[in-house]
Amino acid sequence: MSEVKTYPIINNPQYEPHIDEDTYHRMYQQSVLDPDKFWSRMAHQFVDWFEPWEEVSNVDFNKAEISWFKGGKLNVSYNCIDRHLKDKAEQTAIIWEGDNPEQQRYISYQELHDEVCRFANALKARGVKKGDRVCIYMPMIPEVGYAMLACARIGAVHSVVFGGFSPEALKTRILDSDCQVLITADAGVRGGKQVPLKANADEALSSCPNVHTVMVVKSQNADIAWNEQRDVDYNEFKKDMEAECTPEVMDAEDPLFILYTSGSTGKPKGVLHTTGGYLLYTAMTHKYVFDYQDDDIYWCTADAGWITGHSYIFYGPLANGATTLVFEGVPNYPSTSRFWEVIDKHNVSIFYTAPTAIRALMAAGDEAVTKTSRQSLRVLGSVGEPINPEAWEWYFNVVGEQRRPIVDTWWQTETGGIMISPLPGATPLKPGSASRPFFGVQPALLDVDAKELDGAANGSLVMKHSWPGQMRSIWGDHQRFYDTYFSQFPGYYFSGDGAERDADGFYWITGRMDDVLNVSGHRMGTAEIESALVLHPAVAEAAVVGYPHDIKGQGIYVFVNLMQGQQGSEELKSELVAHVAKEIGPIAKPDKLQFADDLPKTRSGKIMRRILRKVAEDDVENIGDTSTLAEPAVVAKLIREKL
Ligand code: ATP
Ligand code: MG
Repeated sequence: MSEVKTYPIINNPQYEPHIDEDTYHRMYQQSVLDPDKFWSRMAHQFVDWFEPWEEVSNVDFNKAEISWFKGGKLNVSYNCIDRHLKDKAEQTAIIWEGDNPEQQRYISYQELHDEVCRFANALKARGVKKGDRVCIYMPMIPEVGYAMLACARIGAVHSVVFGGFSPEALKTRILDSDCQVLITADAGVRGGKQVPLKANADEALSSCPNVHTVMVVKSQNADIAWNEQRDVDYNEFKKDMEAECTPEVMDAEDPLFILYTSGSTGKPKGVLHTTGGYLLYTAMTHKYVFDYQDDDIYWCTADAGWITGHSYIFYGPLANGATTLVFEGVPNYPSTSRFWEVIDKHNVSIFYTAPTAIRALMAAGDEAVTKTSRQSLRVLGSVGEPINPEAWEWYFNVVGEQRRPIVDTWWQTETGGIMISPLPGATPLKPGSASRPFFGVQPALLDVDAKELDGAANGSLVMKHSWPGQMRSIWGDHQRFYDTYFSQFPGYYFSGDGAERDADGFYWITGRMDDVLNVSGHRMGTAEIESALVLHPAVAEAAVVGYPHDIKGQGIYVFVNLMQGQQGSEELKSELVAHVAKEIGPIAKPDKLQFADDLPKTRSGKIMRRILRKVAEDDVENIGDTSTLAEPAVVAKLIREKL
């Protein structure tokens, strides 16, 4: 690994952090020496239970059977709303910031309660019962949160499908989990452009005969088709609904939601999360990873359609009684200052976003940031992909003015919540490292023979022990759950990612194991080469894949997206190749380099290397599932311009 910087722990004079370094080590030890005792204590602290559980955990990774707090009774919506009403009825629960910067709404906990109850009663009125699946296909308006919490209130299982997905992707997901009710809006709006949600839904539903009800939240005055039997105008319908609805008593292991993973690696899987462990894990990680304090204004820029939106816009923050900001728009509308302007407008103190956004805003120049104040900020977060040290430094120096810790959080749809991350006030920062495991998380690195590696090492990232937020199954296909996560390394949960552990015990995610390169017998992660490329001032973003090479086994093929105003040339190509060789070593020298205006990404902004691999391998006939691609045209262009 190239030379590494370490920043000491940043102490904020106004706040005593919940966890300091000694406390981290002490609590971590407790959490792994006697996990049941530790989690039992936390479950009392973070969650209100109607009835206590019978056993804290019962886990068998060899059978992919996992349960936490079985027999315990609770309701997630009660925990996210009702229990706060005593002290916080008037406190803002949700700040909504529209795509249009002149639009905002403030929803108090009392209003949230009333809206969620009305939505819950509306679902009941259309026959929805405990255990039924409800699909939610919505823009980022408060009603998406009401709908999720309403399902939780009556024990229905929600399946949120990102509003940017196509009718085809929506259809597949509705059918896979047999949803009979769909909640949508007339249209969404992002970056000033309308997204025809209802029209997409109509198209999807032409092949979903079991859907008997479509609740439509009209928010854009869009011109839409209407099916009298099936469609319900929610704003009219809710007028007759009571603002009280008794929360259903749920078992800790009753399903809470299904969420299809974003699809960077293949056919989407319906990840199933349950009630008690998930709620505990998201609440606790939200509090400690962001050092959430009572007067914070918290903003996670994810979409409700991703796990980050579930766990860290809604469930975790609301369980903690926080004020959470829901943003309808995009980072570059009306201008690339938007994020920072929203921070100033609402005094956001904790800000959580993704490397793809950070890299894009970095490429747009510092001025868009420095002209804003950002004085309210206290903690910065990153999630979704490895953050290149270059982007980390920019986030730290320019956005955070070296005064705000960055929490680089590694986790997955499957893990429910954050697994490896620094804690503000407790962890020194190393740009590009997700650093140390959260409480109760026991990572290990395995070599190809499934042997655990000690000390500084590089291998497959697995978990030795369960944690309450872990997924419980793949909807309708438990065998696939076992095969995907527990068969390759028996006795462990396999994340699918590779990682390196340094001498201080800090973890560095090197990327997905499928993406690992083997060049002349040397195993290399894509993240390291990409980070070296991004270090070069001409490069905005890079993606690295392997392709068959007669001599080396695998050759290194890089796709490079240049900074605004830069031109690709043969000289620049040679310069970049030499730059990588200098930064990492001659072994990492790219064999082929292609300039690309755009890289293929999932709708959540992750680079899809499996597609780039097909382009590099000249195997475009077998490109695989592209339904989750944000801009399908990007791929055709890459193929056309191929070397
Ligand atoms: P699919 O599983 O369908 O291919 P996906 O893995 O992209 O989709 P997610 O569950 O949203 O869907 O993403 C989890 C993955 O994102 C992790 O396995 C890891 O590869 C990457 N990731 C997330 N956060 C980080 C981080 N902080 N550092 C490095 N990688 C990260
Ligand atoms: Mg994944």
